Amino acid sequence: MNLVTAFRPDQWAQHIALNGQQRSLLSANNSRWLSQIVRSQRQGRTCLPYFLGLSTVDYHWMMHRQLLGRQRRMPLVSLWNQGHDAPLHEEDLRQQLLEMRKDEWLEIRNLLRKNKAGKNDCELIMSDIVAAGCLGGDHLWRDLGLQSRSELSQLMLQNFPTLAAANSGDMKWKKFFYKQLCEAGGGYVCRAPSCDQCSAYSDCFGPEE
Ligand code: SF4
Repeated sequence: MNLVTAFRPDQWAQHIALNGQQRSLLSANNSRWLSQIVRSQRQGRTCLPYFLGLSTVDYHWMMHRQLLGRQRRMPLVSLWNQGHDAPLHEEDLRQQLLEMRKDEWLEIRNLLRKNKAGKNDCELIMSDIVAAGCLGGDHLWRDLGLQSRSELSQLMLQNFPTLAAANSGDMKWKKFFYKQLCEAGGGYVCRAPSCDQCSAYSDCFGPEE
């Protein structure tokens, strides 16, 4: 499901509840984080594919509406025809890896979407990108190309506040997401009765530098 089909009229009620200044702040924060992610990806400092884990349509929507700051009311349908990135997309090995692990990406993406704030269009975009970052092998903030774990935590708090608040033990973000999925699916994989008694404690908690 891309942004063309994802927005429903009932979701806009939550947008209206915010005043203009609040909406601008949320939008400015997301634009800043997205700019950082795109810049890092282009510099080869992320695990993300060229389109960041987004569909081609959503990627172009984000670039035009959120980042370029122009054509803000450009109809999405007109972006369907911008196929100039298609060859690059097909040759993108990271994209191929993402497609091989699509089920895993979807589970994390859906976890994030279930917990979205419902206040800014970019929450859907962010859920796709953050889920793609989870498929990398480094700390999530690094795999996304953000500047610090703290920046990622702010992104999480703004866009997925209930999920962010549930990480009250300051668990490493990827570990936290997978633990949530394990618990929800009944396939809970932790062997220790509690984190305090677990020999893998330092893998799950502690600094993400
Ligand atoms: S510290 Fe151990 S028990 Fe806690 S989440 Fe990590 S693996 Fe599971």
